[in-house]
Amino acid sequence: MSGSAPLMIPFGRPLLGSEEKTAVAAVLDSPQLVHGPKATEFESAFADFIGPGAHATSVSSCTAGLHLAYMHFGIGPGDEVIVPAVTHVATAHAVEITGARPVFIDADSSGNIDLDAIDSAMTPRTRAICVVHYPGLPVDMPRVIRIAAALGVAVVEDCALALGGYVDGVHCGLFGDVASFSFYPAKHMTTGEGGMVVSKDASTVSSIANVKAFGYDRSLAERSIPGVYDISQLGLNYRMGEMAAAIGVEQLKKVPGFLSARRANMSRLREALSEVEGISLLPDGDSRRVHANYCLVARLEGDYASRRNDVLMALKSRGVGASVYYPVPLPLSSYYRDRYGARPESFPVAMSIANESFALPVGPHLTVDDMDNIATAVADALKGG
Ligand SMILES: *Cc1c(COP(=O)(O)O)cnc(C)c1O
Repeated sequence: MSGSAPLMIPFGRPLLGSEEKTAVAAVLDSPQLVHGPKATEFESAFADFIGPGAHATSVSSCTAGLHLAYMHFGIGPGDEVIVPAVTHVATAHAVEITGARPVFIDADSSGNIDLDAIDSAMTPRTRAICVVHYPGLPVDMPRVIRIAAALGVAVVEDCALALGGYVDGVHCGLFGDVASFSFYPAKHMTTGEGGMVVSKDASTVSSIANVKAFGYDRSLAERSIPGVYDISQLGLNYRMGEMAAAIGVEQLKKVPGFLSARRANMSRLREALSEVEGISLLPDGDSRRVHANYCLVARLEGDYASRRNDVLMALKSRGVGASVYYPVPLPLSSYYRDRYGARPESFPVAMSIANESFALPVGPHLTVDDMDNIATAVADALKGG
């Protein structure tokens, strides 16, 4: 490949078209920029997409949604929440910000939280288990629900990477007590910044909807006397504005197409990489679990393991936007290590993923031909060429 022009394969790129632009322009021409009809429309369309029984309320980010979930359960100082070590820092910060302690669990070989390790991490202070469907592979939710029920704790699903992921035909987010989705630009769909809280329990969603809006006892539309309301709960301002919601309505219509492009890209990339020596791929879905295909994580094996950063730089020089999901096991990040003093030996799989893996894009901004080019670039990078 040396000598040929570099590829132009970014890790992620939002796909926004004239539909989103028209929808945002219509909001700008309307009298309502917040708590208007677009947020409501987006919430009900999103709940329909997730499936029967889903209720949804829009929020300013997935992180905000996770924070609201813990506030909803009254989780705070003295409490503990089980979280995976392999995840975005938001998963842990949303616990930490309440004053509770995130208790980190290493991954199993799939990259997801090791369910066998949960029992021994439980203490009388444990109030919830948070799972992340990483990097789109659904966690075995029926098993999580059995574990949580036996221990009497809540289940929070961080669904930031899980749009389009199913277990036994049920969408991720409908198993636990509360789920939070992300619409950050690199995710499956975007609203700029944004998120969605989902639950099977309508009263949970309506309570969270109040807390995301200062804890008002009634929404703008519910105020029979203009300007008159009471404050029934402690709350924040974690609302999604109308411009973001208008983008979300249009993006959601495109999600089925986005997901099938991701599926086609993922299967081509898996196949093209299957011949490449020196890597192993995190697993695909199986007969029960549909993978949400956020990205493909490859682990370097044997002598290659120590060369991860060289591989990233070689891919960069070829124009392939590889990344690392995630570059530090959270308990060993400076913040959490200083606070709770974890040791690397306690998180061998998370250490290996952080230091010996790289993530490749399969988003709908790319074609199956791009996948072949990525695979060639990976093979060349491993050869050190
Ligand atoms: C992106 C991400 C988040 C944060 O989402 P925001 O919408 O940016 O707050 C949380 N958890 C996981 C697993 C993520 O990948």
